[in-house]
Order: sequence, then structure tokens, then C-alpha cells
Amino acid sequence: MKNKAPKNILIIFLSFLAVSAIFALLNPQALQKTNEVSLSSLAQQISQGSIKEIQVSGDKITALDNQDKKITSRKETGVSLNDSLKAYGINEEVLKAIDIKIEQEKQGLMGWLFPLSIILPIVIFILFFWLIARQAKGGPMGQGFNFMKMPAKLFGDGKDEKKTEKVTFDDIAGVEEAKDEIKEVVDFLKNPKKYQALGARIPRGVLLVGPPGVGKTLLARAVANEAKVPFFSIVGSEFIELFVGVGASRTRALFLEAKKQQPCIVFIDELDAIGKMRMPGMGGGHEEREQTLNQILAEMDGFERDTNIIILGATNKPESLDPALLRPGRFDRRVVLDLPDVKGREEILQIHCKGKPLDDTAKINEVAERTPGFSGADLANLVNEAAILAAKKNRTTISQTELLESIEKVLLGPERRSHLLSEKEKEITAYHEAGHALTATSLPGAEDVRKISIVARGMAAGYTLSLPKREKRIKTKSEFLAELAVLLSGYVAERLIFKELSTGAANDLEKVSELARDLVTKYGMAKFGPIVFGIRESMTFLGWEQETEKNYSEKTATEIDEEVAKFIKEAEGVAVKILTQKKAMLTKIAKVLIEKETIEKEEFE
Ligand code: ADP
Ligand code: MG
Ligand code: ZN
Repeated sequence: MKNKAPKNILIIFLSFLAVSAIFALLNPQALQKTNEVSLSSLAQQISQGSIKEIQVSGDKITALDNQDKKITSRKETGVSLNDSLKAYGINEEVLKAIDIKIEQEKQGLMGWLFPLSIILPIVIFILFFWLIARQAKGGPMGQGFNFMKMPAKLFGDGKDEKKTEKVTFDDIAGVEEAKDEIKEVVDFLKNPKKYQALGARIPRGVLLVGPPGVGKTLLARAVANEAKVPFFSIVGSEFIELFVGVGASRTRALFLEAKKQQPCIVFIDELDAIGKMRMPGMGGGHEEREQTLNQILAEMDGFERDTNIIILGATNKPESLDPALLRPGRFDRRVVLDLPDVKGREEILQIHCKGKPLDDTAKINEVAERTPGFSGADLANLVNEAAILAAKKNRTTISQTELLESIEKVLLGPERRSHLLSEKEKEITAYHEAGHALTATSLPGAEDVRKISIVARGMAAGYTLSLPKREKRIKTKSEFLAELAVLLSGYVAERLIFKELSTGAANDLEKVSELARDLVTKYGMAKFGPIVFGIRESMTFLGWEQETEKNYSEKTATEIDEEVAKFIKEAEGVAVKILTQKKAMLTKIAKVLIEKETIEKEEFE
């Protein structure tokens, strides 16, 4: 909708042009310049007998001379031409010889042009505002115009095949438990009698919980398709608008409609956004969120026993939801979607590779192995990138090379070969990355090195790609310590070789500080024992903010800082030890890197 604005303005501009062109055409006198003379010189010509015809229209005189040349002139208003000419001493006889035509002033054309010139701009203005108003309905202002309307989209009425969503449960992989649970919910809607006969309370609300990109929205769309009932979809932020009370009234409208169409499903995506999105200073604020939430709660409580509506919610921040939402009778079922494991990733890749020509070298299982921590969305993106890459190379099939290359692209951003490093920068980066890689292979707890590169990618000047040997759900303290040492090795290597530090390590240091602090405050791995020092999300007037709530004394704060520093010092010591011992090796790796820019796992070992 929005990109139409310039087009409309162009149209209006063009119509202005067209109108002025018409004016110019209708007023040919303005264009056709004839030689206008004074009345006295016309009179002179008449007395000389060189004029054969005169036309008078209003005050305007058009004369034709003997050579058929047009001469125009003007006479005084209110005085007849005869009198005027007599005043110049022309006698009747001469005048009689001339063919004089008196005409009414040409009222016609000019007559309606004048009112037109007033009406036309008004019409154009009205048109203009109408267009603006129509457009604005897409934007935040326009919703002020029709804010009471329910913005929920209705997907399919469960009957018309064409209108229903195309996503099915088969298009979702790696979240089997969630799928099963959702299928059960769909069954409630389809056969309510079966459950009611046993006195079972049908769940009101089902909350899909999981990190971004794992397929929450996708799952809901599949439900919309498979349940064969009306499906209302709305995003949490759509409840909140410019005006206070809109959220609540929208909620009411939504549920009213849903009750009419039951059995049906109402899907509220990004539920945590209710109350999150608002414009500071434009009203709204705390109460708006409360009102909307309360309205949702009230509606859910108000369902009669046999109301056949199920509310699906999705969020990636369940901890930020109002606890009242999670009480029985409301969102009392939670379906957790997790990041997919190896098997899940392989299946997801398979789904997204469908319809894309892979060649024999492509090994999807290997790609799955190399992508721990990728979400479904990341994997979909990966396959797409690989296809684009293959197309760029003018290939007709996608090979393993493109797939593997895309992993890095998704992980780190595109390669920036054009970003040329100077010789010195290249050297520093090479030693830095060699440091990371060497420590990673030397420490038992660290992750495997897959690839080292000093080709800039995204924000990083170089990178060492390392992946765990196998997938892990939990990490041990020694693994964390190894990770700290590896992260610090770039920094240590630079210092060791160049006796100088660079900004290249900034990102590593940031990660180090964060990790070390987590060890102390979150995981209970410091001297304090099993205790957590809290961070809490809380709401401020302007929205959500992460705020550290200090549930410890100033003295403890100092001790925490000391513990964090101790971890970092220790890790640094480990890195220094390894790199000093293996300095020759470090230099060797760096030299190869400077020459080749990239070292793969096999060669590195
Ligand atoms: P979110 O959990 O953030 O709502 P989405 O459902 O919007 O994530 O997922 C975004 C895209 O990622 C989907 O359109 C789909 O292409 C892909 N995707 C995510 N999870 C899966 C999955 N489990 N199986 C297949 N594709 C997935
Ligand atoms: Mg989503
Ligand atoms: Zn680094």
C-alpha cells in the first residue's frame, strides 16, 4: 500500500499539467499573436481605405486589411465603434465601404472556463485527500480512522479449499512432540462430543513456546489448514494502537466474531508483544496493556462450557508473559518447540530441498551435522542461499560446495573479498586466528576446528569456525573454561607476536566478559556455590526493558567482579602457556594462512 503514494502524487501532478494544457488550447488568442495596434493607427488605416472588414466583439476589434492581414485593436468600453471612429475624424461614407460585423462578446468559451478554473482545483483537492485517506488506512494514522474494526485475518472458512492455507503438518519437521500435541488439540475441535462425554475439559488456550524461527507460526498455519475450521490470525502488536482502549475493543470484536463462527481457532502470534509496542507520549502506556490483557482474560473466562473455540498463542519469551495468562482455563497447555537436533535438521533440510535440484555430491546429513544451533528458519535460509549461489555460478544443480559455503554465510554474513586487508592487517589477523585455532586443538574440552579464514565476513576481519564434536544440551565448567581460553587466544597471540594490541579482539573480549559473568552469576560455578544473582525482565513505563535487579549486597557485587576477573585471568594464563609453548607452530599456521587465506579442517590437522 505504502509505495503507492509517490505514484498517486505523480498522477495528480500529471492531471494538473493536462488541465493547464487544455486551458492553453482553449485560449488560442494567447498563443496566436496578431499584431495589435492602437485605435488611432487603425483609424488612420481606415481613412486611407486599406481596411476591408472589421469585426467587433465586445471591446475587441479585429480588422482585415486589403492584403488579408489581421490587425487587432481595442476600443473604449461603452462607446460604439462608430462614435469612436468619428472622433478620429472618419466620415460615414468611408465606414459604409467597410464590412462591419458587431458580435456579442464571446461569452461561450471564456464563460465556462472561469467557473471551471475554480471548480477543477477543488475537485482535484478532494480527490487528493481521498487518496491520502485511503492510503493511510495501511499506516498507523489510518487505523485511527477505523480502529474499532477487528484486524484479525480470517484464513479459510474450513470449507473452501482454495482459501485455506497450503502449509500442512508434513511441511514441519524436527518438532515431533509439538506436532503430536497440536494434533490432539485439533481433534478436540473436530470431535468435541467424544471428550465432553467423559467430562473432560477441553483446553481453552495452547501456548506455543520456543526460540525465534523454530516454526511456531508455521505450525499454527498448518493447524489452520488441517483443522478445517475457521482460523482467525492476529499478531499481538496489532492490538495496540494510537488510542487507549483500542486493544480492548479489538479483543471484544475478535471474540464476538469468533463466537459466531465456532468451532474455530483464534491464533495470537507474538503474544508477548501485547503492551510492548507503543508510541511514547501518545497515550497508551501501562494501562493499555493491562486493559487488553484483561479483556483477553475476561473473554477466555467467559466461554461457556460448550464453547468450541481454541486460542493458540505463540511467544518466544514465555517468561515475560503475565502469569495470569498461564492459569488453568486460559493458556493452560504449553507446547514447547526447541531448536532441532541433527535428525530434525536433516528432515527440515530435506523439506526445503524439495523441488531444488541437488547433485550427487550433496550430502544433507553432513550439512545437518555441521549446523548445530541452527533454527528451522536458518536452515530454510541456508538452502535458499545455496540455490542462489549455484545460480550465480551458472550451474543447473546445487552441490555440496554451495551448501557448505552457505552455512558460513548464514552464520557470519557474506564474504567480503573486496574488503582488502593491508599486509599488516592480514598478518595480525592471521596470527589472531591461528591463536584461536591452536588453543582450540590443544585443549581437550574445546570444540573442533573446522575452518580458519582471514577473508573478511560480515563484521569480522577473519574467523575460526569451530563446532562441537557432538551435540550438547549441557556444558561443563571445564568446557566453559576451555572456551574462555580459546576466545582469549586471538588477543594473546597478537600480544605475543607483535608486543602490541589491536582492536580486532574487541568482539572476542565482549564474549569473554559475558561468558565469565554468566559462569559466576547464572551457573553457580564460582566460589559462591549454587546461587544465582538475578537478572530480571521487568516492565517500565515505555515498555519492556532488561533490568538487573540486584538481589545481593554491594560487598557481594565487588566479589562477583573479582570472581569474573579471576576466571578471565586464569583462562588468559592457559592461552599464554599454550601459545608460548607452541610458538613455532603458531607462526607456521599464520604463514600458511597469509598465503592461502583459508585452511580447511583436514589440512589444519
Ligand atoms: P517462528 O517460530 O519464529 O514463528 P516461523 O514459523 O515463522 O518461526 O518460521 C520461519 C520459517 O522457517 C518458516 O516459514 C519455515 O520456512 C522455516 N521453518 C522453521 N521451522 C521449521 C520446521 N520445523 N520445519 C520446516 N521449516 C521450518
Ligand atoms: Mg513467528
Ligand atoms: Zn578472535
